[in-house]
Amino acid sequence: MIAVDTGPGPVEAAFSTRLGGTSTGAFASLNVGATTGDHPDAVRANREALAGALGFDAARAACLTQVHGADVVALGAGGGEGTYCGSLEGVGEFDAAITREPGVALLAMGADCPVIVLWNGPGDVVAAVHAGWRGIMAGVIPSAIEAMGCDPGALQAAVGPHVGPCCYPVDDSLRDAMARAHGADVVRGDAVDLGIACRRALEAAGVPAARIATVDACTSCDAERFFSYRRDGAATGRQAAVIWIGGAA
Ligand SMILES: [Zn+2]
Repeated sequence: MIAVDTGPGPVEAAFSTRLGGTSTGAFASLNVGATTGDHPDAVRANREALAGALGFDAARAACLTQVHGADVVALGAGGGEGTYCGSLEGVGEFDAAITREPGVALLAMGADCPVIVLWNGPGDVVAAVHAGWRGIMAGVIPSAIEAMGCDPGALQAAVGPHVGPCCYPVDDSLRDAMARAHGADVVRGDAVDLGIACRRALEAAGVPAARIATVDACTSCDAERFFSYRRDGAATGRQAAVIWIGGAA
């Protein structure tokens, strides 16, 4: 687990790693993704273990059916309505979720794509965002911030583990498109730096640069701690970003 420093308010957040679960083989061990072939019972056990370790309510936790888009869902008191450890289904085809309800944990999953958590100063609204290159280009980051409905200048953000520019060469057209949208410094040689792209998108949406933290780790380089699609192909697990408003349940 990688802790996120959310300050003195009620917000709690973390990024999971692949350590500490029950899945085996390509999914060893803390795989929380249910769509790439791992046994559902193992995924349930891993999701329960994550909730137990971090202290959030698995019955109301919410995953998403992520589709590399920019749609955002606002979740009420029921959150994921028992799907997190029940059916294992996501709440719908969304790549970001927000909530103002204490006790509703939001999860965004990735195996190279950046996952981002956002919260405001008072801690009364939070968001989890899946932001791979398609989602970044589709505008999922400003969409999530708009849905939070507060002054972006009061927001804080943490960008989780993702594939680094060391392991993310892309074609010319994507490099050019990313540079046009987010500035020349997102391009590193023949690669794109997705973490910088997320940072630039957060800044462009009004989040102060000093309030954006980025986990300095490459999912593809660090096989011990992280799942990686680039490294291991389609049959691999997922790590997650988790955020919720603590205190009153
Ligand atoms: Zn790398």
